[in-house]
Amino acid sequence: MSTHLITGAAGFIGYHLAERLLERGDRVVGLDNLNDYYSVELKKSRLDRLQRHDNFTFVKADLVDQAAIDDLFAKHDFDRVVHLAAQAGVRYSLTHPRAYVQSNLVGFTNILEACRHAKTPHLTYASSSSVYGGGTQMPFSTSQRVDHPLSLYAATKKSNELMAHTYSHLYGLPTTGLRFFTVYGPWGRPDMALFLFVKAILEGRPIDVFNEGKMRRDFTYIDDIVEGVDRTSQQIAAPDPNWKSDEPDPSSSNAPYRIYNIGNNDPVELGVFIETIEKELGITAQKNMLPMQPGDVPATYADTSALESAVGFKPKTPIQTGIANFVAWYRDYYGV
Ligand code: NAD
Repeated sequence: MSTHLITGAAGFIGYHLAERLLERGDRVVGLDNLNDYYSVELKKSRLDRLQRHDNFTFVKADLVDQAAIDDLFAKHDFDRVVHLAAQAGVRYSLTHPRAYVQSNLVGFTNILEACRHAKTPHLTYASSSSVYGGGTQMPFSTSQRVDHPLSLYAATKKSNELMAHTYSHLYGLPTTGLRFFTVYGPWGRPDMALFLFVKAILEGRPIDVFNEGKMRRDFTYIDDIVEGVDRTSQQIAAPDPNWKSDEPDPSSSNAPYRIYNIGNNDPVELGVFIETIEKELGITAQKNMLPMQPGDVPATYADTSALESAVGFKPKTPIQTGIANFVAWYRDYYGV
């Protein structure tokens, strides 16, 4: 039986991944600080569900607490580490920059150091489509060099990839960064578009539509994401003794350092996304048409061919199904 550490286990993606591994019979240690960036109640509800499994252990700790992280690695022998805890959100980074430096840079260093000393077989960590910035060639490919982040959030995620590179290079720590593209689905984040739209529409309030709904996002359903993260984490990239290049080589599954896109490979205009929600709810939304927000990018579009060749990742959930599943969960959870 494998033992996995999932950081951010009370978060949206961490919760779903933990459920999948626990249902398979693996052991999961989940770490989270249960911070109040969004509803602590929602995080606790996710956690309650995980705690029904005997093979789940919860550790409430902050990533920046080096002693707590070291202690966790001293107590457990992790076969895989999936690091998802971070300060998420592009817009919040405009007003709360220090939270990103703490969790995403100091916290990430603590995870890297702990994995290095414990000789963790494989560290998989969350990067983001935001590292591509604006004006990037479509679809976004990991073979493109990206060095123009448009928000501090994106800058910390790009920094994580660079930091992981040094640990793979210097210490032979096998690392895989996954650039997530707008993940949505049941138990989703209250600060993200789908949740905000459904909530406002059901409460009869107008929704804020940025860039007049012309932005395009590669909305990716949570089950597809979990499938891809699980497959990636399982596949341990053995350190290659002959590896000398400074270049990330996403096509090689044998390199100790990898970066992949994990997205839907099918961008959708925000306006179309909203129409699908309206159809599902049977309500026409009142819309506040607003300009583009600072830090936002006009479009995201994942080329997922590298992850497909490496682990057979193939997203398969259309937005109609994904939105219907979210709405069903939302109505059930909030009783509306
Ligand atoms: P989330 O906010 O729901 O989950 C993150 C969890 O980490 C939260 O439960 C939070 O309490 C915890 N956390 C934050 N800072 C911490 C700290 N210092 N110490 C301990 N715990 C801490 O976010 P999510 O949507 O599940 O995202 C997971 C990861 O994927 C994040 O790294 C995020 O940046 C990245 N990502 C997500 C998306 C998306 O669309 N959801 C897109 C791109 C990247």
